[in-house]
Amino acid sequence: MNYDTIKFMNLEGFAYIIKSIDLTKTNNVLSCNLTLKKRDEVCPSCQSKDYTVHGYYTKKITHSISNSSPCFILYKARRYRCKYCEKVFYETNPFSLEGDQTSTYTILAVLDTLRSHTSTFTSVAAQFNLTKQNVINIFDNYVDCGRKKFPKIISIDEFYTSKLSRYKYACTILDFKSKEIVEIYSSRRMNHLANKFTILPDSERNNVKIIIIDMWEPYRDLAKRYFKKAIVAVDSFHVIKHLNDAVIKIRLKVMNKYNKRTSTLKSNDMYYYMLKKFHYFFVKNFEDIYQGYIKIPKIHPKWKRDEILKYLLANDDDLKYSYRLKEKYREFNLTADYDNCEEEFDSLIYDFNNSHLEEFREFGRLLLNWRTEIINSLIRVEGRRLSNSAIEGVNSRIKTIIKNANGYTNFNRLRNKIIFSINKDVAIKAVPIKTKK
Ligand SMILES: [Zn+2]
Repeated sequence: MNYDTIKFMNLEGFAYIIKSIDLTKTNNVLSCNLTLKKRDEVCPSCQSKDYTVHGYYTKKITHSISNSSPCFILYKARRYRCKYCEKVFYETNPFSLEGDQTSTYTILAVLDTLRSHTSTFTSVAAQFNLTKQNVINIFDNYVDCGRKKFPKIISIDEFYTSKLSRYKYACTILDFKSKEIVEIYSSRRMNHLANKFTILPDSERNNVKIIIIDMWEPYRDLAKRYFKKAIVAVDSFHVIKHLNDAVIKIRLKVMNKYNKRTSTLKSNDMYYYMLKKFHYFFVKNFEDIYQGYIKIPKIHPKWKRDEILKYLLANDDDLKYSYRLKEKYREFNLTADYDNCEEEFDSLIYDFNNSHLEEFREFGRLLLNWRTEIINSLIRVEGRRLSNSAIEGVNSRIKTIIKNANGYTNFNRLRNKIIFSINKDVAIKAVPIKTKK
């Protein structure tokens, strides 16, 4: 018996039962002829151990050990006839499950590779010299991720799927603590989610204590309606995004006063140039801006960031005022303490609501509308502030999967792939799911 061949075929685990093995290559196809030693069997219908050899039948099993050649095990299996009940049956096949024409080794290797969030059905097919459809069939037959139990703190988020679903956005429920996916629903729509939440057991819904959402009104309504024991927090990143949007609008308005093409020109086109070139000073965290000298081709050759900021704010009162107020909010967001933040927060709301700039008054209304949820976002759990940014890693992996999603024609398959690739230790089915197509 050739141990090198056994090793090459990744069949070391079966070495002790292999009687003969030889490998041939014809037209780039690897064929491994194989017989097994006689082992003790029992009749599957009467459990008798008394049987005779009835004949042989060669089973062709796909066994993908190479990416350059298709490979098959041609397994010459004995057939036995039970002396007691005359039942004809095969000797135990250690390579594949009944009804499967792919070796268990191949199936496990394919599934293992599919766990990576960057893998696609196409890439895995190429790696194992299988067709894409082979890989999809293996995946569909062995992977069916159930939902997890709703934990104490959940994050509700969404991702864009339009091609794959009737709806544009799918909704993800994540466990804030473990960062694992609890469930993915095909739509973030109110009635769709309401139907899903209704069928959750009461005990599970009442176990949820905190729900973190972005500033999407239906999520707040759903949270209040279906999770009566939970408080709602908004992700502060989204609040800051709204604030930055307001500042961008104000900066553009101011900038255009200095645009030569406008009818109400304030003749300082250098200022216009600077506002345009350094637009990011108004939204980026100052401490994240490059600390060294920054080149300004039109004026002084190089300035430092604080000189640039000083110039940007010195020429226009509206800009100076909005930058300061924005910074005041950002400071609050970074440093406020849940237990005594209300006075400071309400004073900020007052400042925005009474601003002479409409963009800031609009932001003030937003703060008022989400006051409770913003304050709740200051809560810390085991040192971690409530936020959805902690699960950004999950979202970026989901995005990679969607980007590579040309193999997904149905939502359920996509859902399974995402959960299978992101949650740790998702079990594969011991018995293939043959009822599904
Ligand atoms: Zn029998």
